[in-house]
Amino acid sequence: MIRLFVDAPLSEGVELQPVPEQARYLVSVMRLKTGDGLVVFNGRDGEWGATLAAVGKRGYTLSVGSKRRDQASPPDLELIVALVKRTRLETIVEKAAELGCRRVRLTITRRTNADHTNVARLQAIATEAAEQTGRLDVPEIAPPERLDALLDRWEPSRRLMFCDEAGDDPAAEWGGAAGRAAPALRALSGAPPGPWAVLIGPEGGFDPTERARLRALPGVTPVSLGPRILRADTAAIAALALWQAALGDWGEP
Ligand code: SAH
Repeated sequence: MIRLFVDAPLSEGVELQPVPEQARYLVSVMRLKTGDGLVVFNGRDGEWGATLAAVGKRGYTLSVGSKRRDQASPPDLELIVALVKRTRLETIVEKAAELGCRRVRLTITRRTNADHTNVARLQAIATEAAEQTGRLDVPEIAPPERLDALLDRWEPSRRLMFCDEAGDDPAAEWGGAAGRAAPALRALSGAPPGPWAVLIGPEGGFDPTERARLRALPGVTPVSLGPRILRADTAAIAALALWQAALGDWGEP
């Protein structure tokens, strides 16, 4: 069933005008016919059934039917990721949406190669991923901000999973014995729920002053993602999976 994010209030009987590119997608790409059903959500009012109503001169109308799911918001988890190469950053945003991040904050660190990116394009990728993955909200993409500025205004209530590639000797942390719970899982499980952030650095990694400041932050959990150096996109997926398994909504029915 096609799911569409619409930026309009949703209730029984509301008539929606899909924006032009959505109308084109529905009719030209997905070949929807008048009367066909789809699902709409807006991030606030839950998920509703809808049908493609009359095709007028002004394009198409979606008429909203009954509510299918009440609004629920995912755990307050945000991914903070340094600007990496565009293709990898786009992958990271798409995976962050699938893995339930409420927002993705882009950050500029001392070793980041770029200082800008196409935020609108990343937001479109996040929206499309949210439609595909079945979530009821779309992650917000926060524009690039220097890491120092971000840490200057850090909310003390938000805990930070600091993925530190230069951390303690991961092999020792893994204790060498196969089958032991990953130290990251151990460090996370039993940690308090509540707002969390996962931090992933750039291709060049974090510089020593950044690592020192991050490790001194209250509420930080430095985490090794094992003995191999992962690309930023791999690290983001691995870290978010760990967090969801240890603290997130993967355990929920
Ligand atoms: N240039 C660095 C690697 C950076 S990888 C080096 O060669 O050491 C990009 C980011 O992915 C890192 O900053 C870190 O946040 C994360 N990452 C990659 N591998 C990791 C690991 N084994 N443990 C923890 N974090 C890791």
